[in-house]
Amino acid sequence: MAKTIDLTYPLSAETVMYPGLPHPEIVPYFTVENEGANVSRVSFVSHAGTHIDSPRHMFTGARAVDELSLSRLIGEAVVVDISDRNDPANITLSDLQAYDEVIQSGGILLLITGIYRQYGTSAYNENCPALSFEAARWLVEKQIASYATDATSIEVPGSEGNPVHKILLADGIPIIENLANLNQISAKRVRFIALPLKLKDCDGAPCRVVVIQE
Ligand SMILES: [Zn+2]
Repeated sequence: MAKTIDLTYPLSAETVMYPGLPHPEIVPYFTVENEGANVSRVSFVSHAGTHIDSPRHMFTGARAVDELSLSRLIGEAVVVDISDRNDPANITLSDLQAYDEVIQSGGILLLITGIYRQYGTSAYNENCPALSFEAARWLVEKQIASYATDATSIEVPGSEGNPVHKILLADGIPIIENLANLNQISAKRVRFIALPLKLKDCDGAPCRVVVIQE
């Protein structure tokens, strides 16, 4: 029987954020007692929790999150679990080339680095594994539809200029970060659905990500 798995972290004041970014806030605006209905005022940065980076994240004027093609965000994803790789700090070209036959043009890559197991600890941000330049360029050559991962970033922690983001986003490949609940996936291929909030002209947005596993 098909199983639906929610890969999304809740948005709240407790959401683990990339260093320097504020936590989401959800506060009452109207209440049943005063105005007859509960309505909340919500604030968050565009890269809060499970979220998507659109090309505009790195390139002003490039494709915004509301302009992303949904065909890049909904479809079959190949599940690549490299949580037992040799160098936990880095994702190398050879880590990915081991999956050369399954990572294909037009497909979504769901890459499990294993760092999701550290969510809620300082290691989640500090030990965030980086995608190497060579690996990122190889994914561009592969023409994947989008890149989804449990990591909070794809850069070397503390590095500047976001060069790896630029490699993928310059080619129009959206990046989905901070995926949760990956221990529930057992299939090698899943039906993948990531729907970002349709924030007009915005660089990114929180998104609900679910997979359907047969
Ligand atoms: Zn982001």
